[in-house]
Amino acid sequence: MSLNCSTSSNPLQLPLVRGRAESAPPLIRGGREGFWSNEFFGKKLVIRLVILSFFTLWAAFAAAQEGVVVPKPGAKDLCPVCGMLVSKYPNWVAVVKYRDGHAHFFDGAKDMFKYLQDLHKYAPGHRSEEIAGIHVTEFYSLGKVDARKAFFVIGSDVLGPMGHEFVPLETRADAEEFLKDHKGKQILTFEQVTADVVERVDNGKF
Ligand SMILES: [Zn+2]
Repeated sequence: MSLNCSTSSNPLQLPLVRGRAESAPPLIRGGREGFWSNEFFGKKLVIRLVILSFFTLWAAFAAAQEGVVVPKPGAKDLCPVCGMLVSKYPNWVAVVKYRDGHAHFFDGAKDMFKYLQDLHKYAPGHRSEEIAGIHVTEFYSLGKVDARKAFFVIGSDVLGPMGHEFVPLETRADAEEFLKDHKGKQILTFEQVTADVVERVDNGKF
């Protein structure tokens, strides 16, 4: 009502109104840009943050499930199977960690398998139920991977500190690639490594 009154009662205001109407489209566009940049991208940012925090939590949860930190061998840690200094062979280190936090270190997966297959002999007083995690050094990344999920190539041209070895790979695809590149004979999972297989590898019979 008041708008009608003012426009009709004073014709001088008409050009002003028209002026406003002409400038209206850029204002609306500007308003839209504001809408897209602030509201839309703002929402996108929030979604990104939610996704990021979700993955952070998931990673932390996965780490907790994994059995947490894999300890490193000290300068004087000896392999309980062969008696060699483990720290001299960082590219081959295998680790059996117990629930109370202490760990035993090996200069290769082969000795780790021997140890696990005869805990009574190599670690008197230790029980397999007390083991919190078993890790091996992955051939390509040199990172520690869960031995129970790893793939082991035997019969290859890559020798460890104790001769023929079980070369640990993280994925089956990596194991297949390694087998091809290094003339390996067989890919085994953790469960497939029996005492017989260890003996064969020890004797170089594949
Ligand atoms: Zn050893």
